[in-house]
Amino acid sequence: MSSKKKHTFKAEIQQVLDLVVHSLYSKKEIFLRELISNASDAIDRAQYAGLTDKSIVADAPAWKIDIIADKDAGTLVIADNGMGMSEEELDENLGVIASSGTKAFVKALQEKKEVNVPELIGQFGVGFYAAFMVAQEVAVISRRRGDESGQAVKWSSTGDGTYTLEPAERDLPGTTITLKLREDQQEYLDGWRIRELVKKYSNFIAYPICLEEVKAESAEDDEAQEDAEPNKDTEPLNAMTALWKRSKNDVTKEEYKEFYTHLTHDHQEPLETIHLAVEGAVEFRALLFLPRQAGFDLMMPNQKHGLSLYVRNVLIGSEFEMLLPEYLRFVKGVVDSSDLPLNVSREMLQDDAVVRKIKSNITGKILNALAEMMNSEPAQYKLFYTAFGRIIKEGLHSDWSNADKLKNLIMFPSAKTEEGYLISLKQYVDAMPQDQGAIYYLLSEDLLTARQSPHLETLSARGYDVLLFVDPVDQWIAQSLTEFDGKKIVSVDKGDLQLGDEKEREQTKKKLADASAEYKALIEFIQGQLKGEIKEVRLTPRLTESPCCLVADENAMNASMERLMRAMNQEVPKQLRLLELNPNHPLIQKMKEMAAESALSERLADYVELLYGQALLGEGSAVKNPQRFTRLISELMV
Ligand code: ADP
Repeated sequence: MSSKKKHTFKAEIQQVLDLVVHSLYSKKEIFLRELISNASDAIDRAQYAGLTDKSIVADAPAWKIDIIADKDAGTLVIADNGMGMSEEELDENLGVIASSGTKAFVKALQEKKEVNVPELIGQFGVGFYAAFMVAQEVAVISRRRGDESGQAVKWSSTGDGTYTLEPAERDLPGTTITLKLREDQQEYLDGWRIRELVKKYSNFIAYPICLEEVKAESAEDDEAQEDAEPNKDTEPLNAMTALWKRSKNDVTKEEYKEFYTHLTHDHQEPLETIHLAVEGAVEFRALLFLPRQAGFDLMMPNQKHGLSLYVRNVLIGSEFEMLLPEYLRFVKGVVDSSDLPLNVSREMLQDDAVVRKIKSNITGKILNALAEMMNSEPAQYKLFYTAFGRIIKEGLHSDWSNADKLKNLIMFPSAKTEEGYLISLKQYVDAMPQDQGAIYYLLSEDLLTARQSPHLETLSARGYDVLLFVDPVDQWIAQSLTEFDGKKIVSVDKGDLQLGDEKEREQTKKKLADASAEYKALIEFIQGQLKGEIKEVRLTPRLTESPCCLVADENAMNASMERLMRAMNQEVPKQLRLLELNPNHPLIQKMKEMAAESALSERLADYVELLYGQALLGEGSAVKNPQRFTRLISELMV
């Protein structure tokens, strides 16, 4: 490149710029955090690349970040000796953002008017643009490490929709960002303000951040002037402590919170902090956090997650998903191990034995911490479970080795439990009446339908509770959840419900057999009417209040599963269910009498249709022909 060239920002960037600059009136200060983070990332990358390619670190750099505040010139400089950027990289990184990220950012901003913009900036990776909140002009001079030409490039923009690229000079590799501060943003040139901001937002940056103040000549009355000699601070502004390397007892709650915010951009206190120092077969330290709320990263598809991995003080990467099972993807934190080789690639780590051991150790520790929280701080656990219960449940399907621990962590609403409360399997079992042999659940799409399901009747009459599986993932986990504490977990709308002791079951069976002879004509009539719709009609002891219900065959899919599969465009063979009748219900008794008189068969046919419609509605399915259904009801009412 031999001359200055003018470029136009991609449309999305202009939009982000406008939003960042204009929708933010307080907290402009976070621009410094963002620029320092970028500098730190650039050093991480340089250090990591230098492990395998010595030429990249031929200048033997002492890694550092410099801040230079010049009151006379009105400029603030943030310089690092990290990776630097080539002309192409400057053009690509500062002129374009992956448009998906931008769109998501703009959408989040527009959807939530009250949203905290500084948090979003970090989460969506548009941090560099925060500089325009305080600067009227931003210049970036960068020289790429490993580029033999030694050529530097200058990128500059006033945030007006265009930027220029031109050749420049820089003695050593790295990046220098110069902000020409706006007239009303000169406070960011004050030493105390910069120190405060670095302490507040960047205390845990692993490289020294040093401040040099170029004093304004007219600043005699400036307080900072008194202790201003020499101009350059000798001590870094940041603590640079790796919290996870300290002993648990020496770290304060505030420090944990500060570090958590540094790591995640989440400004709330973490729900739980797990600080581990593991010794033995595999040695590592870890500092893990459970967030209070599910962040954007969990909601956005294909978002990266995982823990930061350090090997002997070098950050190998910040999104190592292989250190955690998928169902713990909401856990944030850092793992530091010296048992891993330094020159590792992500791919090699994937099947590394040490990594697997760390993963299983961490998994066990997190599950234990959750069990502990559940027992001793139920209110706290409820918060956790509301945010992440759904994700934890996935583990039942994928992590057999921890199945028992996971079963103890899941909770459900139940027929007996008040609205808004959940119970665990253990609580369910503890409350079971003596004669109850199994754990019962009902799958349904929503709580209201579930609570009113006819399938609950006979169980409720016996004082048995029923877990209500109303979360979409419950459909899947029901398949893996077959047993707890030696008791079978049984769906209430499938097959025969074996209720009561043997003697009682014999009696019921006999009663039904006797009644079946009495109801033979009705049963045959209904079977004839509903041919192709249902598999069989039979009498049931299942109901106490409703006249009828539909049940699935022992091994068949139940209604809500079938609807789910169809909604996902899966081929589902038509599942014929059984229609069960309550012989004690006056309606069924009336129909039995009608079946004995052939003159009434036309009327009875209508009744059968209505009865079947009721059964469908009762389980949350739609009736076949709603117009006809309502007309029949109207006729009957008249
Ligand atoms: P993010 O850092 O979240 O990716 P930014 O908008 O802050 O988003 O930065 C965009 C990209 O520009 C970074 O990903 C990085 O590649 C590059 N970059 C920014 N600052 C520096 C720097 N000081 N040194 C090297 N590269 C940088």
